[in-house]
Amino acid sequence: MLLTSSRRVESGRDMSAPVDAVVIGAGPNGLAAAIVIAQTGRRVIVFEAGSTVGGGCRSAELTLPGVVHDICSAVHPFALASPLFRTLPLIAHGLTWITPPVMVAHPFEDGSAGCVYGSIDRTAAQLGGADGAAYRRVLGGLTGRWAEIEDAVLGPLRFPRHPLAAARFGWSALRGAEGMARRTFQRSAARALFGGMAAHSMLPLDRGPTAGVALALTVLAHRDGWGFPQGGAQRLADALASYLRSLGGEIVTGMPIASLDDLPPARAVLCDLSPKPLLRIAGDRFSPRYRRALGRYQYGPGVYKVDWLLDGPIPWRNAECARAGTVHVGGTLEEIAASERDAWEGRHAAQPFVLLAQPSAFDPTRAPHGRHVVWTYCHTPSGSALEMQPRIEQQIERFAPGFRDRVLASHVMRPLDYERHNPNYVGGDIGAGAVTVRQLFARPTWRTYATSARGVYICSASTPPGVGVHGMCGYHAAQQALREVLRD
Ligand SMILES: Cc1cc2nc3c(=O)[nH]c(=O)nc-3n(C[C@H](O)[C@H](O)[C@H](O)COP(=O)(O)OP(=O)(O)OC[C@H]3O[C@@H](n4cnc5c(N)ncnc54)[C@H](O)[C@@H]3O)c2cc1C
Repeated sequence: MLLTSSRRVESGRDMSAPVDAVVIGAGPNGLAAAIVIAQTGRRVIVFEAGSTVGGGCRSAELTLPGVVHDICSAVHPFALASPLFRTLPLIAHGLTWITPPVMVAHPFEDGSAGCVYGSIDRTAAQLGGADGAAYRRVLGGLTGRWAEIEDAVLGPLRFPRHPLAAARFGWSALRGAEGMARRTFQRSAARALFGGMAAHSMLPLDRGPTAGVALALTVLAHRDGWGFPQGGAQRLADALASYLRSLGGEIVTGMPIASLDDLPPARAVLCDLSPKPLLRIAGDRFSPRYRRALGRYQYGPGVYKVDWLLDGPIPWRNAECARAGTVHVGGTLEEIAASERDAWEGRHAAQPFVLLAQPSAFDPTRAPHGRHVVWTYCHTPSGSALEMQPRIEQQIERFAPGFRDRVLASHVMRPLDYERHNPNYVGGDIGAGAVTVRQLFARPTWRTYATSARGVYICSASTPPGVGVHGMCGYHAAQQALREVLRD
């Protein structure tokens, strides 16, 4: 069965020539889906609206010429840990990973900082006393068992290969991080460190599965590291695209797809789209019931991002912060929890939790000698237009007095700038959908990758395992398409 019409559109390519599969969107999941299909020798073509590949994994000279900033993703624990990416020859296709000496630092107002190092022992030793012992017990144990639960975390809901290990992880993971931090740790440093990891979820920290997000991200720091591609996130996307082309896959950029009718005939169409843009281009193919289900999909808060160019490194009060790839700027667990609750409930945090990455401290290719790029964002209400830059600066100044004096240039992206940049990020939700417990599994509906239209699949971060640059949504969607409609 061929799903699409043979209408020709202005693409510079013959749109009537049939292929086995079409992928809409060259984000990490779209590229991953195309790679999995191309690896079987089938003909696959990717159409990407943007002028470059990568989706949420792209870089650009946002401030000044010659200075490389990451527009979306900057730090890539999921890419390093991805069961798909680790099988691909990405190094041979130009990718070099950089791992900083400190994965995450979390400064406090007294000048101290909590850190996550690659080593569990070093991390536990720095926390000291009962908290160090608790850290070693909880995170050490989980890191050791990760291979047994990886498929449950990075795949669709199905019976796990190691049910006991998965159940034990699920018991803690589906809870709120705030409660777990208080039960597990006695001192505020360890509690805040755990809260900062959990705040990546963009959920209030008393809700599940924020504990799971904190546990998974911390385990990945110990197992694979929170590394980043030399030269910027774009290099990872470029390596995926280069490998896809080496398999015979085709990529057409600058080609927004307005309707499935515009595609060449294909047996499978994989959409690297979240439900709202998917409904726009494919809604007429779906049953009314499925359309309603997609319409109920819940998006989360937005992000407000500032990229900076500095005339030197950030003047952190604590020296370990200068050695960290990522710095969580937000103070205590209580402050972080208040900030995340504000964004979720439609308020602007007076002291927002700021995620900060400083790749040029370890990658001189990002900026001219002596200059540094800094990537920061905070969570805001969906679609918010309020300028958060002064609040972000204020937060950094608390832990790095003199930061403002180093700024040469900055570039802002507000929640709606993100939606314009990429329609998947509705209201600026960079997760392409809230990571609530329900949407962890029934993502975007109980059908996950399949839709009500045979042969049309969703392969974006709006399917399990969700947000992050790992390609596993694309992998699972492609496997399902290969089983169902690309068998011969
Ligand atoms: C500010 C920000 C910071 C982030 N930080 C990190 C991080 O540090 N680490 C991490 O792992 N993840 C991070 N993420 C999340 C990560 O970028 C996403 O989860 C990931 O990119 C999702 O990949 P995807 O392939 O599902 O979709 P996307 O990356 O969203 O790609 C979808 C692609 O489809 C294209 N497209 C959409 N509509 C059409 C159409 N009609 N026709 C043709 N093409 C279309 C888009 O242009 C885009 O290229 C961040 C995201 C943002 C925005």
